Amino acid sequence: MPNECAAITTHCPKCSQTIEISQRWTAGGVNDYGGWVLECTNCSEKFAFDLGRDFNDSRVISGAFIRDSWDRELGEEAMVLERNGLKTALQPSGRSVAPAQTEGSR
Ligand SMILES: [Zn+2]
Repeated sequence: MPNECAAITTHCPKCSQTIEISQRWTAGGVNDYGGWVLECTNCSEKFAFDLGRDFNDSRVISGAFIRDSWDRELGEEAMVLERNGLKTALQPSGRSVAPAQTEGSR
């Protein structure tokens, strides 16, 4: 089955610790687009990370714990950010954007 598995990294916005993520995408699969609320293992900073691809099959390899998650199609992002006291989600590129964005390209 032609699955994709990409190793991506992000950094804690507070202490810059490297966080390694194994991002999975399954061809023909459900691929629930969404993101996570991560907690840095070094400084305990909580921040939102917009994974973009399947947040159920992807996982954090090192650097952070997953504390919460949202499903973009269910429109959970703003609610999850709010209940964690967060305003914006980090993008994999490191950009920070407001949660009420348009549907991403597939
Ligand atoms: Zn940190």
